[in-house]
Amino acid sequence: CGVFGVIGVADAANFTALGMHALQHRGQEAGGIVAYDPETGFNSARRFGYVRDNFTSRDVMDTLPGSLAIGHVRYSTAGSKGATAIRDVQPFFGEFSMGGAAIAHNGNLTNAAALRRELIERGSIFQSSSDSECIIHLMARSIQKNISERIKDALRRVEGAFSVIAMTRTKLIGVRDPLGVRPLVLGKVGEGWALSSETCALDIIGAEFIREIEPGEMVVIEHGEVQSSRPFAPAKSRFCIFEHVYFSRPDSILGGRSVYETRRQIGVELAIEAPVDADLVCPVPDSGTPAAIGYSQQSGIPYAMGIIRNQYMGRTFIEPTESIRNMGVRLKLNVNRALIKGKRVILVDDSVVRGTTSRKIKDMIIDAGAAEVHFRIASPPTAWPCFYGVDTPDRDKLLAARMSEEEMREWIGVDSLKFISLDGLYRAAGAANGRDNASPQYCDACFSGEYPVAPADQIENGFRM
Ligand code: SF4
Ligand code: MG
Repeated sequence: CGVFGVIGVADAANFTALGMHALQHRGQEAGGIVAYDPETGFNSARRFGYVRDNFTSRDVMDTLPGSLAIGHVRYSTAGSKGATAIRDVQPFFGEFSMGGAAIAHNGNLTNAAALRRELIERGSIFQSSSDSECIIHLMARSIQKNISERIKDALRRVEGAFSVIAMTRTKLIGVRDPLGVRPLVLGKVGEGWALSSETCALDIIGAEFIREIEPGEMVVIEHGEVQSSRPFAPAKSRFCIFEHVYFSRPDSILGGRSVYETRRQIGVELAIEAPVDADLVCPVPDSGTPAAIGYSQQSGIPYAMGIIRNQYMGRTFIEPTESIRNMGVRLKLNVNRALIKGKRVILVDDSVVRGTTSRKIKDMIIDAGAAEVHFRIASPPTAWPCFYGVDTPDRDKLLAARMSEEEMREWIGVDSLKFISLDGLYRAAGAANGRDNASPQYCDACFSGEYPVAPADQIENGFRM
């Protein structure tokens, strides 16, 4: 998911819609905005589909006046599988004795099912199936006298990944979980301030990128001032390395590094680790593009657009059901036949999850007359599900959980298949000496099976690490 908020600018909801549009790659199922205006109070709009189709018309935007707003773009992850109901669309809103508050959450809480049970037993009435709704109910049960203290109370009880943006009548609030699994950044826009999942959404509104919210940090912005506090016990940060590989936009800056540059560097590492003689290096667009550029630069094999993407389809992966996803590959990608015929082709993609994408692309490339097909993957084999906000399927659906690299090569049906090593990935992401195995610098659980936060709800359901 993606979160965005702004305070201290006229028409905050319009800025928020623009920010959400820049974060659309983080969630395409639905979006919502809550805005506050002293005359009309809190107003909200929640819609299915793209930001540009919903939060551009006057009918919607005129209902969201005020100089303070937050927004959320959603894609459903573990916990709320399948179709999203409109009541699952964030931001969530609650009325407390000291006034209203809205929250937008990116990440996945790993103890939400247990908390929900406990809260329902004690009288909470849940409105949605979302893990994030727990936060509002925990806030309602807090005895603190102001909302930011109640948010702290609530977030001290949840486990897992959370980058949260919240608002009251006068405050914009941002919090990152102690490990900082999901990103969250602070920007300055005119006299006001913005919080965003990624820096690319600051660029779109002309905001200046000030800094990241640090893991375990809370910022409260009011009357133009930013106040920082540390509500949690200190912990070593474990940012999601898959944000660098796939999830974030390449024009964003994460942990002081350009996402594009990290991805290009992954391609360089891949060319060193897994060279092969070929005529062309082609990305699987768009997610494999920067790594393919790096592979081509390092190997000297020409870069070419062997697969053309239809610009009007969303990310296949983010479509929630299997049948839509299966069609999606063909609706979205087509082979550039004239270029491919008779060529030995290196295809670079970001990841192999179920393997269905790779297999279909291989079919299309062979059908177009390629002489050889070599897959190079910009992440290690995805052998474990993510419980922190990326929608990987159950373990038994992950190709790498069931097969060795050679079996995967054979199943996909290509001449060679190589994944970047975990150390190579860490080097590309800026860790000069690779992964510190005693105390890893990133979360890489989907590749290593080492979960930095025990997924309590999953373990209760029989998941074995
Ligand atoms: Fe990111 Fe993978 Fe960790 Fe999930 S398990 S937070 S996708 S690195
Ligand atoms: Mg892809």
